[in-house]
Amino acid sequence: MRVSVDRDRCCSSGMCVMNVPEVFDQDDRDSLVRLRQTSFRPDQFAELRLAAQLCPGGAITVAEEETAAIDD
Ligand code: SF4
Repeated sequence: MRVSVDRDRCCSSGMCVMNVPEVFDQDDRDSLVRLRQTSFRPDQFAELRLAAQLCPGGAITVAEEETAAIDD
């Protein structure tokens, strides 16, 4: 899974930080979102998807990793 945040869309609600504090943080200078991690455990996937759904600014994007292998 890949997670990205768009600071231009973040409205500093802090919802993601309250729900998944080990992954999301707010910058001390401008209160905009920042990521604490760049790789994620499978047990975090559900809460990351929920954080993206609940973000009022639509600033969190969750992309499922491609898992299919290419056969010759
Ligand atoms: S929930 Fe969305 S708008 Fe709120 S701080 Fe996190 S990224 Fe920003």
